[in-house]
Amino acid sequence: MALRMSTLFLRTLREDPADAEVPSHRLLVRAGYIRRVSPGIYTWLPLGLRVLRRVETIVRQEMDEIGAQELLFPALLPREPYEATGRWNEYGPNIFRLQDRKGDDYLLGPTHEEMFTLAVKDLYSSYKDLPLALYQIQTKYRDEARPRAGVLRGREFVMKDSYSFDIDAAGLDRAYQLHRDAYIRIFDRLGFDYVIVQAMAGAMGGSKSEEFLATAENGEDTYVRCPHCGYAANVEAVRVPVPDAVSYADVPAAHAEATPDTPTIETLVAHLNAHFPREDRPWAAGDTLKNVIVTLVHPDGTREPLAIGVPGDREIDEKRLGAQVEPAEVEAFDEKGFAANAALVKGYIGPGALGSESASKVRYLLDPRVSEGTRWVTGANEPGKHVIDLVAGRDFTADGTIEAADVRPGDACPNCGHGLESARGIEMGHIFQLGTMYAEALGLKVLDQNGKLQTVTMGSYGVGVSRAVACVAEGNHDELGLRWPREISPADVHVVATGKDTTRDPEVFAKAEEITRVLEAQGIEVLYDDRQKVSPGVKFKDSELIGIPTIVVIGKSLENGIVEIKDRATGERREVPVDDVVAEVVREVRGSAS
Ligand code: ATP
Ligand code: MG
Repeated sequence: MALRMSTLFLRTLREDPADAEVPSHRLLVRAGYIRRVSPGIYTWLPLGLRVLRRVETIVRQEMDEIGAQELLFPALLPREPYEATGRWNEYGPNIFRLQDRKGDDYLLGPTHEEMFTLAVKDLYSSYKDLPLALYQIQTKYRDEARPRAGVLRGREFVMKDSYSFDIDAAGLDRAYQLHRDAYIRIFDRLGFDYVIVQAMAGAMGGSKSEEFLATAENGEDTYVRCPHCGYAANVEAVRVPVPDAVSYADVPAAHAEATPDTPTIETLVAHLNAHFPREDRPWAAGDTLKNVIVTLVHPDGTREPLAIGVPGDREIDEKRLGAQVEPAEVEAFDEKGFAANAALVKGYIGPGALGSESASKVRYLLDPRVSEGTRWVTGANEPGKHVIDLVAGRDFTADGTIEAADVRPGDACPNCGHGLESARGIEMGHIFQLGTMYAEALGLKVLDQNGKLQTVTMGSYGVGVSRAVACVAEGNHDELGLRWPREISPADVHVVATGKDTTRDPEVFAKAEEITRVLEAQGIEVLYDDRQKVSPGVKFKDSELIGIPTIVVIGKSLENGIVEIKDRATGERREVPVDDVVAEVVREVRGSAS
């Protein structure tokens, strides 16, 4: 059945919604695809739902193709399995928790590792049952701190999540590779530019992990890429190459010096160059060691100060730090914190006052660049004083290292040493070798060939289905509106009748009606603008805003036996004899459909 604009539940808007920061959000609302209910919670209107369903179809086809089996878990889940893996607490404020009438705890599932693991445990018991891959396309809930950009980051969203179950690591590798290949096909079909980057394997005992990022200037993820060797990684996952130990035989003993009026790294460096010139070259920001204190809030609510030492020319990157300390959350270390710990002299904190063994007892982690033998200027733990020639390994040690300093374009590639490039993207998919951590926590074991119980090894794989709709829109629009790739457009063709009404222009409407019917009979999905007493200008604007790839305009030139076919993506228009239009449209739709 053709969608008729005269009755379609749709109102396009001329004005941008006030809360829309990115083009996809603006256009999806204006073109009548989605409607906001509450922050991060959206209704899919008829046109939007059709796009969402088409994305689902692509994902479903490619999952079926690799032999994964679809099932559907509830979204409303009991607490116990999540308690068993520790995630009930680890999720902190990021999940929706609720109680039933008896006071029992439930949650709305943010992801379903626990449920899949238990289902396999419930039904399977032998290595002969493996390998197995299961998936669902389901609504997930996360109480995101910053829901954003419409359905791009929702609090309710649709995800395809799949899970693989194997008896050994080689099986897991195969399952992972199958998913990786399927994801490449999915994202190719969805029609956006993406990169595959190394991702954080997480604190949860996983090993290999990659993300599929749609390239987008306003994406929330930053990744780096090496133009020389092809290395690509989310900045969260970048490992700084540890420099070789350097000799400090010639470095004099550390000495504390008065450095008045040096509240910033720049003023400190200027002061050093004026009063304590270096023998080999001027002092630079990178010669100073900056010690930053943050507060970690653990899932159980306990708060822990953490000191991080980074070269003074680098900042702490919030996302990199967050990824390292997960599931703890990071908060600022405030005046109260300083007041409570006399060993910490604000602005002049040096390694001497840091570390679990020190007076402050604050755990101290260093950037890997602060390696054995490197020489630093840093706080002397006294107001107005810094210490010079403090050598790592000789004069101080820490509790360990941490990858929390920012990664910059030009930094050395961890793989080949060339300069890295940096860009932004939106996480569209994530594939992850979980290993045995969930199977162990929930007791998923099967009998192996020798009749011995073996813990099953698992992978978990996600695609943001609703996010994909926004992501495709983000990558396919112009100033006039959306420009859907054919495979996920809400319809194949938009037929526009531009006459006044059926009394004044009966031929136009009759012909448009006929073309719509014949196209439909050929299996082409049509959005038909059959509205009466709506000006051609409004109809054209709407067709551009809605963004169906092929637009057929039936109007005045019908008198001469001519109609117009417009290509929404290229803007190209051509006139064709009315008798050829169906064949032309069918060819266009079929021709570029894969
Ligand atoms: P992000 O880093 O963007 O918060 P995530 O790493 O927490 O995502 P996963 O747990 O890996 O997300 O979920 C799998 C996929 O689900 C993601 O790759 C993404 O495409 C999608 N997704 C995650 N959170 C949301 C959300 N709030 N709204 C829409 N899609 C989401
Ligand atoms: Mg992820």
